Amino acid sequence: MKHKIISDLESLLGRDKVISDPTIISLYSREPSGLTSNALAVVFPENTRDVSRLLSYAYRNDIKIYPQGSTTALSGSAIPSADGVVISFERMNRILNVSILDSTIDVEPGVRLGDLNIELTRYGYMFPIDPGSVSITTVGGAINSGAGGLRGARYGTMRDWVLGLTIVLPDEQGSVLRIGCKTTKCRQGYDLVRLIVGSEGTLAIVTEATLKITPLPESTVTALAFFPTLEDFFEAFRDIKSSRVQPMIMEFMDYETTILAKEASNVDINVEGHMFLVSIDCNVEAINRVESWIKDIMTKHNATRIYTAKSLEEAESRGLFTLRRSLFPAQVAMGSKLYPGRRIIVYLEDIAVPPSKLLEAIARIREISKSMGIKVSIGGHVGDGNLHPSTAFPIDDEQAKRRVAEWHNEVGKIALELGGTVSAEHGIGVLKKELLKLEMEKLGSEKALYLMREIKRAFDPKGILNPGKVV
Ligand SMILES: Cc1cc2nc3c(=O)[nH]c(=O)nc-3n(C[C@H](O)[C@H](O)[C@H](O)COP(=O)(O)OP(=O)(O)OC[C@H]3O[C@@H](n4cnc5c(N)ncnc54)[C@H](O)[C@@H]3O)c2cc1C
Repeated sequence: MKHKIISDLESLLGRDKVISDPTIISLYSREPSGLTSNALAVVFPENTRDVSRLLSYAYRNDIKIYPQGSTTALSGSAIPSADGVVISFERMNRILNVSILDSTIDVEPGVRLGDLNIELTRYGYMFPIDPGSVSITTVGGAINSGAGGLRGARYGTMRDWVLGLTIVLPDEQGSVLRIGCKTTKCRQGYDLVRLIVGSEGTLAIVTEATLKITPLPESTVTALAFFPTLEDFFEAFRDIKSSRVQPMIMEFMDYETTILAKEASNVDINVEGHMFLVSIDCNVEAINRVESWIKDIMTKHNATRIYTAKSLEEAESRGLFTLRRSLFPAQVAMGSKLYPGRRIIVYLEDIAVPPSKLLEAIARIREISKSMGIKVSIGGHVGDGNLHPSTAFPIDDEQAKRRVAEWHNEVGKIALELGGTVSAEHGIGVLKKELLKLEMEKLGSEKALYLMREIKRAFDPKGILNPGKVV
């Protein structure tokens, strides 16, 4: 059967677009969390027509299809099954059109967000969604995971920046649809574009996207500060959030994580407490005023050390973002230190709470982790209340796995009790399906899950697209 499918795929797409070598397949069957799987083959379509033919074939032959960007999702959403075919968009990586007048860019799904911004910088523009993985994250992956990032405090998530999509459906014809518009204002009945954003590759394949773009800020003031207590950090956070200034970046890491991040990055910054990183866009005339304003707030709340920079270039060259960018490597390093020489799975939570509840959320997560004997690292995009508490366990230790699974549920429950959500930006994948159920139950909205399953059925009647994910 396997050989027949591979030879069918080769005749359908051409031999050079199909890979069935197990070593290469293994590279497309893992996430950075440590989750792994297998697949029958990996295919590399070059255009929408290839994808349409592939989905039509898969529909007629009941073949499971797993769309994939750079597999940096941390929820299991990009992991295939052994009897499925991975679609990689590495060869659909063209920037098709940039229109400054329309403030839009048309791209294929395999374009990396970092490359998009290199191109846009030439025009003095940017695409503002910047996950920690921005240099490798693809447009298709970011759309389908509904990604956010460091600048989320000001610019939101992917759902705010996708105007239109070309999608292919897993049906008899491999139907190709264009949904949404090239204009910001657009009413096409029910909003199918927003339904696809964050659908984790379970409804349709995205083969082209029209994204909004925005001018680069004239200047940016950045402050990196360290606080002796969580309360001090939170008071500084509260003062900034309560002002009329809307920072672009507001990032936090607790003291323990900051130390690990310093070790992982070797940056020349003195780490002296809980880290708070703030960047504020402003015009050139306001730079000095904004810098003193932010410094005054940090000092008032007992910051032990404050580093500032008056442009993004200066902040980059002095490494002010390096600690925060080292959050995930720090969390992986924590797992490796806990279990030297063993293969580990890193559990990275992705809760969000209303910003007013942040201090309580951080304190309760630290408390519950301590009481369960779990070593935890906490960081996150605090501007929008998004926290990434993380821990790890050895893949071959069933007892540790159960304990971490229990901890994972407790962290989710804390978020829900504080009026938050169990997944802010990484998606549901396979790891948060139970927590999604819990969230909808807590809202008294179990019927929403039924609606989601019906939507899945309408798009994908045979259930062949990224099966087993989300609902
Ligand atoms: C170090 C690190 C830092 C991170 N920081 C952040 C962060 O700050 N914010 C954040 O939101 N996330 C973050 N993430 C998670 C991850 O990077 C994002 O979710 C990202 O958007 C995934 O992009 P990808 O190209 O790797 O997609 P993948 O992981 O390959 O796929 C993601 C989902 O999209 C689907 N998919 C991919 N392409 C298509 C397509 N063309 N059509 C249909 N479905 C498709 C996949 O099936 C999967 O469900 C981080 C991850 C790492 C490892």
